Amino acid sequence: MTKAIYPGSFDPVHNGHVDIAERAAKLFDELIIGVYEDSPKALTFSTEERVELFRKSVEHLGNVTVTSFRGLVPNVARDKGAKFIVRGLRAGFDFELEFEMALMWRSLAPDIDVVCMMSALEYQFVFSSRIKEVERLGGNIEALVPPQVAAALKAKSSSSG
Ligand code: ADP
Repeated sequence: MTKAIYPGSFDPVHNGHVDIAERAAKLFDELIIGVYEDSPKALTFSTEERVELFRKSVEHLGNVTVTSFRGLVPNVARDKGAKFIVRGLRAGFDFELEFEMALMWRSLAPDIDVVCMMSALEYQFVFSSRIKEVERLGGNIEALVPPQVAAALKAKSSSSG
């Protein structure tokens, strides 16, 4: 029984994240998506909203659960019995950061390995921050996010004026 955790801010989840979750769900018996409560990023969505949006985006996957977490990822992985941490890599953008983070996590928890999955070609340019900016400026982001995320973004930008 192999269990993995896929941690992130997911503010909000987009199709690049969902693609990694779908592919990781085929690799592992059980995948836990961990929504980081204390993300240092300037967040648009609350923890509950981020969890709920990801939950709806993976409800077609039988072996995936979504939960929020606080604290160090390797500790959370260990608490949940996950032996692997999944991360996604876009060409150029993510490597240095993910490499340094994976080495830190491995030094904290040598028994837990980090599995980086390459982003699909069509999602290489997809970033949560860029999606929010494009939506705010009136661009159409429907091809980049699940439908409930497009609706939630629209509601956020109309409520913030
Ligand atoms: P962070 O965890 O740094 O706050 P995110 O929540 O945006 O970042 O992303 C969570 C994970 O998903 C990270 O491993 C990130 O590299 C990966 N990811 C982000 N965007 C994409 C994408 N377009 N394709 C594949 N993986 C991605």
